[in-house]
Amino acid sequence: MVTSHSGFRPSNRVESQLRMKNQMTESEKGIVYLVGAGPGGPGLVTRRAYALLARADVVVYDYLVHPDLIAACRADCERVYVGKKAGRHSIEQNKIEEILVDWVRSGKRVVRLKGGDPFVYGRGGEEARRLRDKGIPFEIVPGVTAAVAAAGYTGIPLTQRNTSSAVVFLTGHEDPEKKTTVVDWRAYGALDATLCIYMGMARLREIVDELIAGGRAPDTPAAAVQWASLSRQRTCRATLRELPDAVREAGLGAPAVVLVGEVVAVGDGLDWFERRPLFGRRVVVTRNREQAGELRDKLEEAGAEVLEIPMVRIRGDHDERVWKEILEGLGAYDWLVFSSANGVRHFFEYFLKRHADVRDLGSMRIAAVGRGTARAIEGYLLKPELVPETATADGLADALIATGSLDSAKILVVTGNRGGDKLVTRLEQDGFAIVDRLPVYRTDLQTLEELPQVEDFRERGADYMVFTSSSAVQSFVSQAAKLKTGPEAATPLACSIGPVTTEKLKSLGLTVHVEPCEQTLDALVASIIEHARSP
Ligand code: SAH
Repeated sequence: MVTSHSGFRPSNRVESQLRMKNQMTESEKGIVYLVGAGPGGPGLVTRRAYALLARADVVVYDYLVHPDLIAACRADCERVYVGKKAGRHSIEQNKIEEILVDWVRSGKRVVRLKGGDPFVYGRGGEEARRLRDKGIPFEIVPGVTAAVAAAGYTGIPLTQRNTSSAVVFLTGHEDPEKKTTVVDWRAYGALDATLCIYMGMARLREIVDELIAGGRAPDTPAAAVQWASLSRQRTCRATLRELPDAVREAGLGAPAVVLVGEVVAVGDGLDWFERRPLFGRRVVVTRNREQAGELRDKLEEAGAEVLEIPMVRIRGDHDERVWKEILEGLGAYDWLVFSSANGVRHFFEYFLKRHADVRDLGSMRIAAVGRGTARAIEGYLLKPELVPETATADGLADALIATGSLDSAKILVVTGNRGGDKLVTRLEQDGFAIVDRLPVYRTDLQTLEELPQVEDFRERGADYMVFTSSSAVQSFVSQAAKLKTGPEAATPLACSIGPVTTEKLKSLGLTVHVEPCEQTLDALVASIIEHARSP
């Protein structure tokens, strides 16, 4: 037999090329990716899922999919929610399949994002078969399924040498209308395996009775894990027989997985997630959206549940005429001074958009009010040569004056529409400098009605509310009525990043419970942890 270099006979090669061509035109026509979104936390998702989300034309998603994943889509990506709405059922499966087919037929790349893994109680099989029947190309991206997440995040191993060598996934949801197969619970009660029960909370008593009737020892260790991997995770451990009562007393409900088996006892003391210092604490972050992320990450890392309620909105605001003059005389400045990280961001965004190049800044010396601002500058590959110990207008003015370089020097101070006055005055009056002020952004009040998370706050309240600027404090106080919490809600304690914010809080009659000695986000989070630990 004559074989070509690739191992195909020539005729086959042509065929395979043709096939490839067909596949290409098909994928140009559209494709569906059935993607596992994991158990909730946005970090528990594959890189493949993120990559597909970033280039999807359409994302069709469920209840329990984390909003950060949806936020990872392109701005012009069509977002279609097909999950449960408050008090309403989810859209019927048939309808979802139709939606997928319609989009893909119009040539779109569709990501069908499903909680956990698409092939574990996710009806991914049905969707894939429907796509195959219609000749629509698809791919499947696995995800971390709830039972695996619950195991990892409670420290309960699913298998353990000499204790459990088998794992069974079961569903407690048996809707008579939905023709699901009936689980023979007694048969599973006779098995020596770790049982992972999905959707079992509503019928837990019945399920447990059947497992025991089937032979499972009533004192088998068991646990129910609600909201696994999320900061609101809750775990209830008891013997199998006592679990239904314990769950009811603790007020645990769906979504939860129930784990049954000796492995639950192996997990004693391994519950690393719930032992983190801020676990179970709700913290409101009042920073503007662009800046909240870093603080949010640090708080979540410590175990807190973070609610972002930005009190202010910051946007670029530039006066063409002022910029023109400044750019023309750029070479004459000795110092470029930044009084906030927002100033840095909006300055460089505009500066570089004007076809300027960072080298146009010449040999100007650069100063930053604090370390956060310095880091923002370093983001543009520039190093500030002056960062004062105390991150305040006075601290910065003192440090600049102490360099002995200000007398008749020309200084450009980059600020927002508010603030900056004190710094400018001190540099002029005490440093004898010639100062130009360049406002590059505006700080506006965020109208709280527009934010969905405000409702959540009114209902449940929070343990701490963190302020990192006086403008956020001002906004909070002026809109306090809209944040009035209900009778069940916890009243948050105010935390302040530093002296200026603290002063503002106090001047408006608020008590400050947490303030770090050093004005950094790390120190702030450390102080909250210390406060939470103290009895
Ligand atoms: N495909 C999903 C399961 C969907 S069925 C997966 O692979 O995980 C929905 C059920 O999954 C819920 O009723 C609950 O039993 C479980 N579940 C989903 N997310 C969960 C979570 N974060 N914590 C606990 N259980 C969860």
